[in-house]
Amino acid sequence: MSGSTVPIGGIHHVTAIAADPQRNLDFYAGALGLRLVKRTVNFDDPGTYHLYYGDGAGSPGSILTFFPYVGAHQGRHGVGQAAETRFAVPKSSVGHWVERLMRHHVTADGPAPRFGDGAPVLSFRDPDGLMLELVGLDEPGGGAVGWDGAPVPAEHAIRRILGVSLWLESYDRSAALLTGPMGFRAVAEEGDRHRYAGPGAAEVELRCAPGFWPGAMGAGTVHHVAFRVPDLAAEEAARVTLAREAGLDVTPVLDRQYFRSVYFREPGGVLFEIATDPPGFAADEPAEALGLSLKLPAWLEPRRETIERRLPELHAPVRR
Ligand code: ZN
Repeated sequence: MSGSTVPIGGIHHVTAIAADPQRNLDFYAGALGLRLVKRTVNFDDPGTYHLYYGDGAGSPGSILTFFPYVGAHQGRHGVGQAAETRFAVPKSSVGHWVERLMRHHVTADGPAPRFGDGAPVLSFRDPDGLMLELVGLDEPGGGAVGWDGAPVPAEHAIRRILGVSLWLESYDRSAALLTGPMGFRAVAEEGDRHRYAGPGAAEVELRCAPGFWPGAMGAGTVHHVAFRVPDLAAEEAARVTLAREAGLDVTPVLDRQYFRSVYFREPGGVLFEIATDPPGFAADEPAEALGLSLKLPAWLEPRRETIERRLPELHAPVRR
């Protein structure tokens, strides 16, 4: 690999699979207090929702998205997958979260310190078994937390996605990709866990589990991890660097309506995406109305009636 670095600015979003859309909405927009910032469909399968959650403004870096397939079979956690997704919260808010999760009947482990850096971690799972962590940080980063009707007081709200951990058969080639073209650096190592810090205060942890069974996609598993770039020119540059210099099989740039994307599998088998910050989630509805109605891309608008009839109804979660 030569010395070019992709101009990554941190995590853009994480996309996972769920079974029941209402249960998914109740958990993320209810218990976790994220904002539903986009209600749309899987563009490749418009019979299924694509739900986007994030901070008050739907800022890149705060976004967790789901394909909730009604009756989806359960996935299996294993190697070649992103496993835990970590959110940054203010360290002083961890007590609030212990109490809030309990009140929402979410069983959490912790708060326990990780890697000896003093940051308290609460570990729990969503209703489909997706592994999540809230990490209390003195400087959690992120922004735009408040909006009208936010269920969690702004000072305690989830700020952003801090990072993910990948479960891998072996980590050296994935580590070389991160510390080479992706601009991360090794910061800590503990047993089989290797932690890397990257641009935008993002963290990726590689967990080496040789001989562990391979992961299988399904409800409760991460589908892919997206990293952000500032614009289309950076996206094109990233594509060239990753394909030509790192020898990865990278897709052409795809229009994802709220960002432009390329996809590739990192050497350990995890699907990565590079997504642009623009145009963002206010591209097709006003910022104050994010997530309130079903948005479709222009090419699916002619089929709106059929699509709406097939999708299950969704109700805003009860606020508590
Ligand atoms: Zn994506």
